[in-house]
Amino acid sequence: MADLKLSETRDLTRIERIGAHSHIRGLGLDSALEPRAVSEGMVGQTSARKAAGIILQMIKEGRIAGRAVLIAGQPGTGKTAIAMGMAKSLGLETPFAMISASEIFSLEMSKTEALMQSFRKAIAVRIKEETEVIEGEVVEIQIDRPAVAGAALKTGKLTMKTTEMEGVYDLGAKMIESLGKEKVQSGDVIAIDKPSGKVTKLGRSFSRSRDYDAIGPQVRFVQCPGGELQKRKEIVHCVTLHEIDVINSRTQGFLALFTGDTGEIRAEVREQIDTKVAEWREEGKAEIVPGVLFIDEVHMLDIECFSFLNRALENEMAPILAVATNRGITTIRGTNYKSPHGIPIDLLDRLLIITTQPYTKDEIHKILDIRCQEEDVEIAEEAKALLTHIGVETSLRYAIHLITAAALACQKRKGKVVENEDITRVYNLFLDVKRSTQYLMEYQEQYMF
Ligand code: ATP
Repeated sequence: MADLKLSETRDLTRIERIGAHSHIRGLGLDSALEPRAVSEGMVGQTSARKAAGIILQMIKEGRIAGRAVLIAGQPGTGKTAIAMGMAKSLGLETPFAMISASEIFSLEMSKTEALMQSFRKAIAVRIKEETEVIEGEVVEIQIDRPAVAGAALKTGKLTMKTTEMEGVYDLGAKMIESLGKEKVQSGDVIAIDKPSGKVTKLGRSFSRSRDYDAIGPQVRFVQCPGGELQKRKEIVHCVTLHEIDVINSRTQGFLALFTGDTGEIRAEVREQIDTKVAEWREEGKAEIVPGVLFIDEVHMLDIECFSFLNRALENEMAPILAVATNRGITTIRGTNYKSPHGIPIDLLDRLLIITTQPYTKDEIHKILDIRCQEEDVEIAEEAKALLTHIGVETSLRYAIHLITAAALACQKRKGKVVENEDITRVYNLFLDVKRSTQYLMEYQEQYMF
């Protein structure tokens, strides 16, 4: 255990797919925290976004400990979108975990274990590791085009431009030879040991210069003016506490991260991990990156879960908890008491409440427009207007779903642009809630009760 396993996660790249909220890139606020009408994928809902921005400011100033956010509003009014916007505004590495309260009532693990796993999915650890990479005194040489790099290898002459020198650099026969062997391409980073002319390929260039695209690919030379090339390099990776838990829990392999079949993780495993992480933090090797945990339909949690949340919020590593509901005064699950949003008073007291409002026709039009771009769907203006009308009459979410379906219908008739006929076709194929209810009422005798 002393040696926590982390390497398995190193190559784990998150699969980015076009999810329901993939167009949300932040809260769309300006530097004075005022919401821009349309920005970072966000449309309208200005007062909720502004409130979320102020909460973010409080978080950044470390003044939110022990508190949480409640986003209340009708279905499809962007509660999840706002919580995700908060996480995105906190930075690329900020984890965002999302669950619907009903998901935690599973037979495979206890409710509190499911909540604990969600909490730990929303806390990341930024770990700095030293690995061995050859390095020397860095002299940057920019080559305008890949062809120049090739030519330089042939002729042994390299036109270079660095902060220190400018001119023609003779690579020397030995270097050419080893460069050739190493198959150095533009964009590679190589180390040259000057006295011996020994060349070592270090890998591809990670640190692209700001105007990389303007100048084209570059070859970066790491030149060692004499003596040995040094070995040292810092690598930073970010993993969630949950990922570390799963990898280190003896019964589950790291593959459980993909299947989600993690089972219960023993308390001792978590304790050991927390101790190790605390050690790393003290040694300056790791930092905690608290993310956002979003619990939708929070009124579905019961009294035990609420008391777990109260306690979890006190933890110094706690993520920002955002909960959402569309319920008014309702019974607190597991009790006979009613309360606003079905949340016990002691938790309500900790919550900063944000409300979302229904969208106007223009806002629905704009959101649908952004979604079409996100899904790479070309749509005729007329069809977009029809889709907006459907969105107003049914729901935004239903209209968003029709985009993908209509694009498939369009593809099927070998069209390139989604037209009215595609929208009508899928509108007739898939019922919205209103029509589905009407259908059920008309044909109820034929269903079993
Ligand atoms: P529910 O109560 O059913 O969970 P919700 O209030 O969380 O719904 P979302 O899921 O956030 O609603 O919104 C429905 C869809 O509309 C999502 O794809 C979301 O990204 C998008 N959306 C909602 N509000 C906005 C907005 N203001 N700007 C851009 N996209 C939005």
